[in-house]
Amino acid sequence: NSSLHELDPDVAAAVDAELHRQQSTLEMIASENFAPVAVMEAQGSVLTNKYAEGYPGRRYYGGCEHVDVVEQIAIDRIKALFGAEAANVQPHSGAQANAAAMFALIKPGDTILGLNLAHGGHLTHGMKINFSGKLYNVVAYHVDEQTSVVDMDEVERLAKEHRPKLIIAGWSAYPRQLDFAAFRRIADEVGAYLMVDMAHFAGLVAAGLHPNPVPHAHVVTTTTHKTLGGPRGGVILSTAELAKKINSAVFPGQQGGPLEHVIAAKAVSFKVAASEEFKERQQRTLEGARLLAERLVQPDVAEAGVSVLSGGTDVHLVLVDLRNSELDGQQAEDRLHEVGITVNRNAIPNDPRPPMVTSGLRIGTPALATRGFQAEDFREVADIIAEALKPSYDVAALRGRVTALADKHPLYAGLK
Ligand code: PLP
Repeated sequence: NSSLHELDPDVAAAVDAELHRQQSTLEMIASENFAPVAVMEAQGSVLTNKYAEGYPGRRYYGGCEHVDVVEQIAIDRIKALFGAEAANVQPHSGAQANAAAMFALIKPGDTILGLNLAHGGHLTHGMKINFSGKLYNVVAYHVDEQTSVVDMDEVERLAKEHRPKLIIAGWSAYPRQLDFAAFRRIADEVGAYLMVDMAHFAGLVAAGLHPNPVPHAHVVTTTTHKTLGGPRGGVILSTAELAKKINSAVFPGQQGGPLEHVIAAKAVSFKVAASEEFKERQQRTLEGARLLAERLVQPDVAEAGVSVLSGGTDVHLVLVDLRNSELDGQQAEDRLHEVGITVNRNAIPNDPRPPMVTSGLRIGTPALATRGFQAEDFREVADIIAEALKPSYDVAALRGRVTALADKHPLYAGLK
């Protein structure tokens, strides 16, 4: 029963260093967040020891009376949060949620229609070497070259031409909202299922600040660790009619024993997501992204060849276009890392540079909003980013400004 530090100082040191990194830098990877201490407590609990193949009340193992309670709470809470008829909270990740949902709805060899990866789609929406690209016949839709907004005329045209069995609406790198009603109309016209992958914007939906895909889609998948702010994991929401198919696609179709400790942590995060405090945090997330986009279209950065895809944002992230900048995506990511801001480079539509380099940056505000950033703090961080992306920049000065912001908003103060 030794502590981590006593039993394994090597791993403990790396964990401590990671805590320090999170505390002392500004996290702006759009898919990341900081889980509340209570969520991490649930995830670090004795529930990690329990096998519970099956579902609450119908398990293949004894001793499930307490994990049944936990899993049912998680199911009930997320159904209420999004107004869904059915929920499966067992997927270990977003990718596994998508794999199971597709397994439930379509057969190998069927055609799927999803957003192209370089245009903002996710690997699981049909990338060539992902399971989705290997098992299914993939047709991809794109964003419009001029507006950078999803081209619904193309979606309709491709759907009518290729008659997909499944249409996927959702994204990993896209700064606007999708028209779920239009997607459903097209899906109905060609007899396809509509699956919405709301992994990125689920927190905004929970807060009522983004249209809810649940009334429009047959199935909605999500991760729980992005804007939703919970533990790493996935969830599948569906109509009551599809619930049985989804459940058997997750277990025994894709997975064995569920991670009940993670499911407990999901349940806690769903409680948080239903609160007023969470809504207020999502409002600051959106405001922060808007302020960042506004700063990055000012003339001083435009002069350095920096611009913002689609000209702004409706969500928690901004896509920076570096096609006209002397910095490529890799160099810009490194530059921001140097001043203490963590982001990721990202391919942008029609990117002239290779995927490992790219001409874009994806910058998100959820983690800083969780940290307590207000409008004035987001203005400051937007200005630091703008200055760092110019040809000449003062590393020490910018790093000092980052440290001042990090000190102003302490993170996990009780942990160390
Ligand atoms: N779906 C979308 C839209 C995502 O952006 C991601 C992750 O970035 C996933 C699914 C996969 O989630 P995970 O990394 O938990 O497998």
